[in-house]
Amino acid sequence: METARGKVIRSWSAQGGASAPRIVGGHGCHFQDAEGRSYLDFSSQMVNANLGHSCASVQDAVREQVGAGATLGRPWDLAVVHELADRLAEVTPGDLNTMFFAGSGAEANEAAIRLARARTGRSKVIARYRSYHGSSAGALSVTGDPRRWHGEPGVPGVVRMLDPYTYRCPAGHPSPCPVCSGGPHLEELLQYEGPENVAAVIVEPVTGSSGVVVPPDGYLRSLRETCDRHGIMLIFDEVMTGFGRTGTWFACDRWDVVPDILTCAKGLTAGYVPLAATAVSDRLTDWLADSVFPYGLTYSGHPVACAAAVAALDVYRRDGLIERAAALGPVIESHLRRLADRHPSIGDIRGSGCFWGLELVRDRTSREPLVPFNPDATAAEPMRRFSAAAFGAGLYVLTNGNVALIAPPLIISDAELEEGMAVLDKALSVADEYT
Ligand code: PLP
Repeated sequence: METARGKVIRSWSAQGGASAPRIVGGHGCHFQDAEGRSYLDFSSQMVNANLGHSCASVQDAVREQVGAGATLGRPWDLAVVHELADRLAEVTPGDLNTMFFAGSGAEANEAAIRLARARTGRSKVIARYRSYHGSSAGALSVTGDPRRWHGEPGVPGVVRMLDPYTYRCPAGHPSPCPVCSGGPHLEELLQYEGPENVAAVIVEPVTGSSGVVVPPDGYLRSLRETCDRHGIMLIFDEVMTGFGRTGTWFACDRWDVVPDILTCAKGLTAGYVPLAATAVSDRLTDWLADSVFPYGLTYSGHPVACAAAVAALDVYRRDGLIERAAALGPVIESHLRRLADRHPSIGDIRGSGCFWGLELVRDRTSREPLVPFNPDATAAEPMRRFSAAAFGAGLYVLTNGNVALIAPPLIISDAELEEGMAVLDKALSVADEYT
């Protein structure tokens, strides 16, 4: 397209190619492009559209708040911000009762790290390799997966530990495995880093976009105990896993482990308006009462976003969607296991609730990945052809590296699941060509 100034614009964004489809609308679990083609959303966009694309309650709440006042921007005295903080505290685990609001998951993680450093007076943060915590400088620095490479050297003071990735255990998975059981590996790292220098350990309780890695039972508790022994703040990044995604309100609820700080975003408004929260335990808040913690963004607690979140929380409860996600877990798993019987490219299936990862391989015995885990992997031929085959047949599946994220909206019907699995079946034949 040539503009009045004679510039040729190839694409509106460097993040999307010129040939990307132009999506114009969505309804329920489907969305449509400008040519009228419809796609079933098997990944809830960026794993955020938990309530699908036309939730009337959230849409009405947004409209109402825009009418009542969208420009009221002093979060500390806005009724809707206080209402949301109270409502959120009803569902967060343990004593995570104080909320800091922000616009994105990355910002929520920045706040969490800053709080932990301020609280402990220590500087180092331990994070994991298979992790994504956001694209701002601090959040990218604690990110472990290759998306951080372009941002390096990043913010100093970050140390990385290995992941409880049982399918490809970096320690060779002896029994008991120090890495997959959590505490022993962390304890060893602390010997070299000096626990008195470490402010926080940050992990996704269930790793999201870096491969849907579900830790073994006992892992998170073991991290919790190790952090407690050394006065280290434990931060759970539940930006992707919060709000029913894994079948419980938060992924850590499954193991009944409460962090000192929990961050969430995405499902908080189910994607209707950007909003994130950093939920802080009473122990930290008691300390905050005597200190000033300078934190705030112009849009911390934007009223429209908060109104959307209050409505979304209502819908999760009213429609029993956390329970629905839990019930869908075994249904999705059995669909995926049936696909694995037919497709040698499926190496591993992991997940729970409405959050599953399909790890694709060239060889089941050697576990050679279909594409390597690096920044170009998703664009690499086998994964690109697999996603394109699904999309061309009307199914949207988000992929990262050699993992496809099967994470439909929590409102998906049984019939829609069947519809999506049938397309996935065909698309997997493309991946099978490389086995
Ligand atoms: N943390 C996790 C676990 C995420 O999955 C993401 C985004 O995908 C983020 C943080 C960053 O959130 P945002 O993109 O809203 O900054």
